[in-house]
Amino acid sequence: MERAINFNAGPAALPLAALERAREELLDFAGTGMSVMEHSHRGKDYERVHDEAIALLRETASIGDDTEVLFIQGGASQQFAQIPLNFLPDGGSADYVVHGAWGEKAVSEAQAATKWSGGKVRVAATTAQGKQYTRVPTPSEIQLDPKAAYLHLTSNETIHGVQFHEFPDAGKVPLVCDMSSDFLWRKTDLSRFSFIYAGAQKNVGPSGIVIVLAKKDFIAQGRKDLPKIFQYRTVAENNSLYNTPPTFAIYLIRNVLAWIKETGGLSRIEEQNRKKAALIYGVLDEHAGFYASPVERASRSTMNIVFRLPSDDHEARFLAEAKKLRMVGLKGHRSVGGIRASLYNAVSLEWTTALADFMRDFAKRG
Ligand code: PMP
Repeated sequence: MERAINFNAGPAALPLAALERAREELLDFAGTGMSVMEHSHRGKDYERVHDEAIALLRETASIGDDTEVLFIQGGASQQFAQIPLNFLPDGGSADYVVHGAWGEKAVSEAQAATKWSGGKVRVAATTAQGKQYTRVPTPSEIQLDPKAAYLHLTSNETIHGVQFHEFPDAGKVPLVCDMSSDFLWRKTDLSRFSFIYAGAQKNVGPSGIVIVLAKKDFIAQGRKDLPKIFQYRTVAENNSLYNTPPTFAIYLIRNVLAWIKETGGLSRIEEQNRKKAALIYGVLDEHAGFYASPVERASRSTMNIVFRLPSDDHEARFLAEAKKLRMVGLKGHRSVGGIRASLYNAVSLEWTTALADFMRDFAKRG
């Protein structure tokens, strides 16, 4: 069996070591005679995995004691609504920065949430040019309301391939960030954020689960008149075991985090990721007359590299030829078209080199 060279945007490639470990442990987890999926989420065997996943995350991302690590179902999309329900008080206002499709969705769900929560949603900056996004806003373009309940950012726009490399300074306004497509790919000072959320299915695991890193004092400010299941304090008070969590997804996150640790931690992952992105952008720049990269250089995403070829026909041929080389997941999002290569943590330098070689060869042939 030959594994596919997987550039999917999410669900995405998982490290082979994490999958092999799951295969080895599938029928007989830790000598218990059953899979981890068949264990009670209240039992000691599962609890060890759960706690190990949280401990590895704390260690890998250097998460302080002032911060809770939570596992929540419903995807990052659910967070778009749950965040304003918790943190946008009646009469208050929340600021949003928009530089792509996911930020737009976050705004629209927050607006819908205000029907229940009260409060207002303000767009503090947008870089939309019609339906196009090619950059993040500059700090001076962000019209921050100093009284905002929070400032919401999307650190990396997965569809448009536009990424913040430096986060704006929000002063005393709590920073809330959707890090779904660039969580845990580099060393970052996460302590500046009051609330980070990330769907696991790109850099750290399978779909079905969101990792939340939230400051304890921020969680405490959340509304108390919501159904318990929607309050972050409920999840925090119960170590993400208030109700049955997706145990297998958390188990796989444990495997991925163990792989990150064993292979050199975040510094090695970051070094690899930067090399990978440089390889592909290098080809785009070398063949700038053939490949068009719509994103401004300073906002280019290290995770999702989007580009166009001279015609739809070229793009169709590019995808078909790539597929023959076992390269999958390169079609751009249906809303924008073109090509997108997602280079998450589990995408190897070797795979990326194969893609770069193919791109060079394809450009030469035209
Ligand atoms: N935010 C970003 C940045 C994303 O890339 C995605 C998914 N591609 C989402 C939110 C939505 O995630 P989910 O489908 O898990 O709800």
